Amino acid sequence: MGNPVYVSYLIDCNWHGFSPLKPSSVFADVGYTVGTPEKTRILEDINTALGLVERSLGGKCNWSILSHPDQRYLLYREPFLDCWREAVRQGGELSLHPHEDIPREGSRIKETGYMRAVLEDLKNVMAREGLSPNSFRSGYFGRNDELPAVLAELGLAVDFSSAPGYKEPSVEADWVGAPPSGGFIRAGDAASYGPGDVDEAGVFMIPLGWDGAGGTFTENYLFNEAAELDTLLSVYAAIRRRAETEGPQFVQYLFHLSAMNEPRFTERVADFVGHLVQNGGVIVTGSEASEVFRKGSRVG
Ligand SMILES: [Zn+2]
Repeated sequence: MGNPVYVSYLIDCNWHGFSPLKPSSVFADVGYTVGTPEKTRILEDINTALGLVERSLGGKCNWSILSHPDQRYLLYREPFLDCWREAVRQGGELSLHPHEDIPREGSRIKETGYMRAVLEDLKNVMAREGLSPNSFRSGYFGRNDELPAVLAELGLAVDFSSAPGYKEPSVEADWVGAPPSGGFIRAGDAASYGPGDVDEAGVFMIPLGWDGAGGTFTENYLFNEAAELDTLLSVYAAIRRRAETEGPQFVQYLFHLSAMNEPRFTERVADFVGHLVQNGGVIVTGSEASEVFRKGSRVG
């Protein structure tokens, strides 16, 4: 049978046109802009995603909810809160996704005190509505080594920020040398996570699935909108080979809400799931991945 690959699906709940620091992201070429979110379209995209997630993933998905200084609470209010309640009812988990990226200026991810205030506020807004986000994802894979300690304090025990092998200074992303499989983060270094002392920071990193070969989203990662299905399958084959030699793998599969109106993207999510469950893959939420890892590393 071989060692399993634990895959955590993460949907970046963004809106069409959101592109504050990258003028030509892979599925929108709109210039440096926060965009003009259209509630009707966002609702349609969420409903498409909820159907897809329930059908293909049995509800097991991490919903990473965008916030930006220009649209701080847009997705943290009705009618969207009801959607997140439905996501949780299906078996999903919620993730805070503040993109503190200022057009033509840069990312504020490295400002720990600022990031803490944003995260604490978003968490409280959700808590007042009876919702309990349990994870975090940075904007553009930005990295801040002081942040895991903050996440632990705030009860955000899973971090989806790492993209091993990827480096892009313009968005404060640098994960060169980071492990390709998940683990508990060591204090003071967000790119150091592994099977060591699981209690050190108490935050479990689930990196973007990576083939170990390069740092390009269109070629080397489980990034639904960036890579064609064939590429995603060959990345997965590389992860599976790694499972054989190094033990069970814990990785993230990334897709985007703003892509849900394009059938080629929704079909790709479903097609990949079909392949993975036939080939040693196990779909888990962030907290399930963390729990499986914790038991394995204690018992094994
Ligand atoms: Zn994002």
